[in-house]
Amino acid sequence: MGLNVIMMGPPGAGKGTQAERLARERGLLKISTGEILRDALKEQTPVALVAKAKMDRGELIDDQTMIAIVRDRLMRPDAERGVILDGFPRTVAQAEALDRILEERDSGPLVVIDVVVPEEELVRRLASRRICSSCGTNAGPGDKSPACSRCGGVMVQRADDNQEVVLERLKIYQHATRPVLEYYRGRPTFRVVNGTQAPERVAHELDTLIDDAASVAVPVKTTTEGAL
Ligand code: AMP
Repeated sequence: MGLNVIMMGPPGAGKGTQAERLARERGLLKISTGEILRDALKEQTPVALVAKAKMDRGELIDDQTMIAIVRDRLMRPDAERGVILDGFPRTVAQAEALDRILEERDSGPLVVIDVVVPEEELVRRLASRRICSSCGTNAGPGDKSPACSRCGGVMVQRADDNQEVVLERLKIYQHATRPVLEYYRGRPTFRVVNGTQAPERVAHELDTLIDDAASVAVPVKTTTEGAL
């Protein structure tokens, strides 16, 4: 049976880096909604052009659009073995929709991880974060190279990582996304990891937490409203 993992946590907590590794090591499909939107922007799709202004301001894209994007990815054959979700759900409406989709799909337990990092540390990390303009990979800690270690592309600062937008994203995280943690907190598969530790340490703890949570999981049933 597959395994589904949600990486929760504010921008800059390190969710993307850990999601990337977990997907690679466990053979799961990584679904990063921010990355999907940034790729769509490069292709100038109509959805992306509407989303761009909101992304530049650090605001959330509407639930209907985001749920449709994630539903589409989850229904593909390469998602059958399980998925790692990074950046979704960000609202309670998205979390409720995800439960309904997972129930329809009937494909293994859902583990929810909250990566906790204090706000001052997030602001500091985001100010110096760089991503590859070609493949979207984050620069590793201490990596100052102008070229991407994976594809050789040019490393750049994300348009929404400037300080003003970062503060807006953290504010939106508090009011729109924090309630999602409360939606999941009562479940036996909810786990918290300290994201201020070295990435290898976070990775090690995550592996243990995920295996432990998956072993107590029961299939997602929306009828029990959040408390599984
Ligand atoms: P991220 O790369 O996850 O930080 O996402 C970058 C931006 O994409 C966010 O600031 C939002 O504008 C948009 N976005 C990504 N995922 C979502 C989501 N689940 N709901 C709404 N907007 C999203």
